[in-house]
Amino acid sequence: MKKLIFCLLTISSFCSFAQTDSKIYDIIDAVSAERIKKDIKTLTEFGTRNTFSDTLSTTRGIGAARRWIKAEFENISKDCNNCLSVFYQKDLVTKKENRRVPHDAWIVNVVAMQKGTKYPNRYIIMSGDIDSRASNTMDFTTDAPGANDNASGMAGTIEAARVLSKHSFENSIIYVGLSGEEQGLFGGAGLAKYAKEKGWDIIGVLNNDMIGNITGVDGVIDNRAFRIFSEPVPANETDRQRNARRFYGGEVDGISRQLARYTHKMTKTYMPEMNPMMIYRLDRFGRGGHHRPFNDLGFPGIRIMEAHENYTQQHQNIRTENGIAYGDTFEHVNFAYAKKLTAVNAITMAGLAWAPPSPTNVGIGGGVQPAVKLRWDKVAGAKGYNIYWRDTTSPTWDHSRYVGDVSDFVLEGIVVDNFFFGVAAVGPNGHESVVVFPSKIIR
Ligand SMILES: [Zn+2]
Repeated sequence: MKKLIFCLLTISSFCSFAQTDSKIYDIIDAVSAERIKKDIKTLTEFGTRNTFSDTLSTTRGIGAARRWIKAEFENISKDCNNCLSVFYQKDLVTKKENRRVPHDAWIVNVVAMQKGTKYPNRYIIMSGDIDSRASNTMDFTTDAPGANDNASGMAGTIEAARVLSKHSFENSIIYVGLSGEEQGLFGGAGLAKYAKEKGWDIIGVLNNDMIGNITGVDGVIDNRAFRIFSEPVPANETDRQRNARRFYGGEVDGISRQLARYTHKMTKTYMPEMNPMMIYRLDRFGRGGHHRPFNDLGFPGIRIMEAHENYTQQHQNIRTENGIAYGDTFEHVNFAYAKKLTAVNAITMAGLAWAPPSPTNVGIGGGVQPAVKLRWDKVAGAKGYNIYWRDTTSPTWDHSRYVGDVSDFVLEGIVVDNFFFGVAAVGPNGHESVVVFPSKIIR
């Protein structure tokens, strides 16, 4: 009862009793399967969106597609008092330097940026892909509707912009359509490099690639499960960091994995009907996606996608062979499911964009003692900190303790050997940063 009264007295919509924010439910409800359906339809009607297809036609090819996406972002911006800056970011790829490039072309990404009020240089990025492909990736004229791969991710990204642009956030959000995915992750590489040059502080990249298929080639039909792929530790870590891990742990606790856990937790908290599957690998077996070029430069990034793929509908010319209809066409997409996965992105971004930055310089100690010490540098805008821990075999942060506005804490009676630990910053509105795994040892 006491807690309930505190809850009623809380000015912000965040209620410390329920530990949930009603604005997050509003965001879930605002995502529209109908609008996603309409946008996927429009994208498939450009015939092919192969990166090397026609750029001059107003009705066919990747040029027409990206102009339409840019116009959509600009329309969304008009409805929010110009809250989005919309621009093209582009790089040239040449036939000479790339085996899978049929002719020199500009790789053009469409970027829509919603600036944060408090931390404008901190960005959470949601990406989909503009481009599609036929059976032969070098074939840039044959129809390649790419309804699920990846008009679904693109439409989800546009829809997330519609929904989140109605809210104001402390951190910046970027909605982006990337290009050149199918021939070599060119668009992601270009934007990651651009981000590095601009000094963007990237909280995380949510790469959406195929978020609309519920009928798997394995025969399973499932509109609840989806996958969150994340690499275990950063690819650009130093030898020193690698060596330290042998003694202090962290094999499954890199920055992208923490982002995956955050997404998993937001889903479990606010969309309990969904079954998020954290997959402990960068991407599917031997295959790639647009979060990877960000990971390559040391940015956290994950891939969000359906649980059950259908390979007869991916990277296939439209045809019927032995009674099987091949091709990535509109009618195979499940729009209610694409809506759910779009909502997963939207609430993850909202949570992060309302949260303070993660604590820095997190240290841990406590060897041969019955207590664990944690210390960190405070961050501006946090009201306090949550310490998390879990069994070494658990994928999720199962235990936590709110310790208030302090920069160190001792967990008495807990043996450091038997758990993994992390620290997150908590904002006055209750939203939390991504958990930080300790990066140094204290005595
Ligand atoms: Zn593909």
